[in-house]
Amino acid sequence: METFGAIEAGGTKFVCGVGTGPGDLRTAVIPTTSPDETIARSLQFLTDSGADIRALGIGSFGPIDLTIGSPAWGHITSTPKAGWRNTDLAGRFGKALGVPVAFDTDVNAAAMAEVRWGAAKGLASCLYLTVGTGIGGGAVADHQLLHGMLHPEMGHIRIPRDASDAFEGNCPFHGDCLEGMASGPAIKARWGKNADELPANHPAWALEARYLALAVANFVFTLSPEKVILGGGVMHQMQLFPLIRAELRGILNGYVQTPQVLKAMESYVVPPALGDRAGILGALALAETLTP
Ligand code: ADP
Ligand code: ZN
Repeated sequence: METFGAIEAGGTKFVCGVGTGPGDLRTAVIPTTSPDETIARSLQFLTDSGADIRALGIGSFGPIDLTIGSPAWGHITSTPKAGWRNTDLAGRFGKALGVPVAFDTDVNAAAMAEVRWGAAKGLASCLYLTVGTGIGGGAVADHQLLHGMLHPEMGHIRIPRDASDAFEGNCPFHGDCLEGMASGPAIKARWGKNADELPANHPAWALEARYLALAVANFVFTLSPEKVILGGGVMHQMQLFPLIRAELRGILNGYVQTPQVLKAMESYVVPPALGDRAGILGALALAETLTP
């Protein structure tokens, strides 16, 4: 069986992996410092693994350039993260390892892993939304990862403000976009307490569920995914799932006449089956696409 390398490149940490799938994946976590140091330490893990790596997949924080033929393909582009602007991630890893590199967003990678091995296994479409420090989404449509002019930036959609909510929003670009209203830091800014310290019955969660359900409804209307997977730190609050499903049912209001929505909402909006490994396994799944 062919062995692949995988990198989940995040703003806080790089998760590096080697293997063929969920059964044999070996990983290491490396803190994100400077590009030189972080890339060198990641390469060290991959080469020390002794595996005969055939291809490398990278799921990265962004914004990144995914345009085939662009001189900046494989680069992290306009990130505000110090030192990482215009970093040629795919090129540097590919050159050092001498293998082909598949490169995509962290959330597209996670969507891919859930279709390959997880909650959306075997489906032609799914949406993966992460709700953490930021909000981001990846989508599989008709068996393909969704790309475009740049890549989707689903966290920055506009959603109607709740009548009860006076919080102005904290997205530096848009104020009260989805991320500005519903990310972990937005919850902290609104309620004055870390999201993971708010009790399960705090009013924060009903409001959070309403905002996330509005977002999911917009993605159901635009992408029509067969499965909606909600991950990220904030979604560790499992009480959000039934709240979101109930809100979503109300917002869709009988208009979307599919069995998933009408009869099986509990299995339609779900946590990632791969848990916190969706990202790294997604990078592995990306690498796998490079071999016939
Ligand atoms: P990142 O988005 O940085 O990759 P996470 O997905 O873990 O990492 O998101 C971090 C955010 O999620 C923080 O704002 C944190 O407060 C929030 N968070 C982490 N764990 C929980 C939890 N158990 N309940 C609610 N919020 C959480
Ligand atoms: Zn925004």
